[in-house]
Formats: sequence, C-alpha cells, structure tokens
Amino acid sequence: MTQRPYHIDVMISAKTIAARIEDLALTIRKEYCDTEKLVVIGLLRGSFVFIADLVRELDMNVEVDFLEVSSYGDAMESSRNVKIFKDLRGDIEGRDVLVVEDIVDTGHTMTSVMELLRSRHPRKIETIALLDKPVRREVEFKATWTGFEIPDAFVVGYGIDFAQANRNLPFIGSVVFEDDESAKV
Ligand code: 5GP
Repeated sequence: MTQRPYHIDVMISAKTIAARIEDLALTIRKEYCDTEKLVVIGLLRGSFVFIADLVRELDMNVEVDFLEVSSYGDAMESSRNVKIFKDLRGDIEGRDVLVVEDIVDTGHTMTSVMELLRSRHPRKIETIALLDKPVRREVEFKATWTGFEIPDAFVVGYGIDFAQANRNLPFIGSVVFEDDESAKV
C-alpha cells in the first residue's frame, strides 16, 4: 500500500518538552517524598522516550517496568478491555507506582490500564501523560499530571509513531497530509 504524502509541522519543540519535564519531575518528587523506591511504569511503545527523560530528572530511587497493551471494544461500550501484549516483570502490590503514558485521547486505554493495575493493590498509584487531547474524550479520565494539552491533531515524534515511523524525532509534530493542504487552496 502506498503512503499518502505528508509533512510534519513542529507543535512542541524539544527545548519546551525538556523544560516541562524538569518542572514535572520536581512536582512528582514532592508527591512521592516518603517513597523509598518508586516503580515507574511506561506504556509501550509510545512512552519510551518520555519515560527515559523523566526518570533521569527524578532525583530519587526508581525502578522501571513496562506494560504493552491495546484497548479494544465496540463503540457502544462505555469502557473497553485491554489486551496485554507484554505484562509487568515486577509485582506492584504495596508499592508506590507512577504510570507514564504518551497521549490520553479517548481515555479508554488509561481507564482500563488503571483498573487492571489497581486490582493488583499498589499502595499508591498516580499517572502522568505527556499529551492530553481533552476534546477527544469518550470516557472520563484525567491524568494526575499532564505535560501539554493539545488540540485534535494526529501527532508524532518524541517516541510517538505514524505507522512505526517518526518515533526518533526530538520534538512533537503534527502530521499534515499534502492532499489535505492542496484541497484548501
Ligand atoms: P485512548 O485510549 O486514550 O483513545 O488512546 C491512547 C492511545 O492512542 C495513545 O497511547 C496512542 O497510542 C494513541 N494515540 C492517540 N492519539 C494519537 C496521535 O495523535 N498519534 C499517535 N501516533 N497515536 C495516538
């Protein structure tokens, strides 16, 4: 299948992302001030760059684990199930946990992931999303901390892909299809 030609417009620069992560890390450090060792869980694959930068700003003991899920269900359901592709290596019962997501869109993925992780009885569990698209929400979900609220655009970069490409861009950009652009003129 041939790919529709597109270009990428910078939406959030690498410098802006780095500054925001520094601030968020300070807030998180305070929130977990009595935590001996924090379990930071990244949702694969889109959060891998974000989690790497975030944990390096967190001045505390951390463990890193990963979960890979996909949410599915039909449009009539208010919440979907998650299919686990890769489960956590560690046990989170009684632990202090931070879940790291790339984007909250409809809210289904994080709603299901939190239901799953809470059923494993962590002592404390909070969430951080780099990006949030509130206008797209179908189920109520708000991350404890959000990097940036963005409009309804398809974004790539900083770990986030389009058909497995563009994850290595250092910034967040929006995908603009050339045929959409030419339709405007
Ligand atoms: P939700 O369950 O909240 O609708 O979906 C969250 C997931 O949808 C994200 O983790 C991400 O994988 C995907 N997603 C949502 N918006 C975008 C986007 O703009 N670009 C990309 N590449 N994935 C997105």
